[in-house]
Amino acid sequence: MKWRRSSGSPSSESSPTSESSPASERIPDYGTPPPKPPPISWAPLCCVVDKQIRLASFRQVGTEWQLSWVDDSSVPDGDSRRDSAPMSGSFVTAADYPGCPGCSNAGFVRCGSCTGLGCWQPGTKRYHCPHCKVTAQITGSITSIKSINLG
Ligand SMILES: [Zn+2]
Ligand SMILES: [Zn+2]
Repeated sequence: MKWRRSSGSPSSESSPTSESSPASERIPDYGTPPPKPPPISWAPLCCVVDKQIRLASFRQVGTEWQLSWVDDSSVPDGDSRRDSAPMSGSFVTAADYPGCPGCSNAGFVRCGSCTGLGCWQPGTKRYHCPHCKVTAQITGSITSIKSINLG
């Protein structure tokens, strides 16, 4: 005797869960950009010992301008046509600053009277400006320096 079980076959319907997503936007990979060299500005710096005016190179690191080196060749004073935008921020000497080429002073100051830069022996309290011949106390800190445009 045969009878049929009327058992339906188990439903094997599976709802698709992973539908193919529409083409997602691909962000092109340009890689990391090459590191930019730190901005450099130049300002004339006068040696208080040999009175030569040389080009001082300032490297910008964040909001800090670091005096990194002074070119040994002297430049004429009062060349104002090459004035460019002033550097502003805080001013320090870089850790690798070798010192003034004329006298190896390790620091520098900005004259409050004529705004000219001169080399300076750290710790010295008085400064005789080689530009305008004013002697003054060293006070405060430099917040801006007039740079020159070499371009
Ligand atoms: Zn010097
Ligand atoms: Zn001065």
